[in-house]
Amino acid sequence: MEYLLMGLAVCVIVFLIAWYIKFNQKQRKKSHVKEKQHVKCPLCDTNLFVGENIISKIYRPMNVPDQLMLISGCPHCYPKCESGVKRICPVCRKPVAQNQCLTARLFNKALGKKHVHVVGCSNCHKPRAD
Ligand SMILES: [Zn+2]
Ligand SMILES: [Zn+2]
Repeated sequence: MEYLLMGLAVCVIVFLIAWYIKFNQKQRKKSHVKEKQHVKCPLCDTNLFVGENIISKIYRPMNVPDQLMLISGCPHCYPKCESGVKRICPVCRKPVAQNQCLTARLFNKALGKKHVHVVGCSNCHKPRAD
């Protein structure tokens, strides 16, 4: 009888350790997702908080795999630049004027994930006529 109880206790302890490890892994995954949600403005490199959206226009319908996107900036650099904020093209590293914008491609992936790829600014990338 004592052996049975001992065995049971060991089982419970093993179960608790396994559950603890699983719980830890879940927490780690959650914090990882939070890091990924952190967004930077592609023009001025300012860290954006939740609710601060990049000002952009999206062309072409939603049901195509990649859409044309024109990025005007974020609340920190559009319509006016805050002090110390500079609008720089991430592709050619040249300054981007207030009336210029970045051309990007928005890829709609499965599970609602979006991927934005900046192609260039109006200086280094001429939009195709298609
Ligand atoms: Zn910005
Ligand atoms: Zn450029």
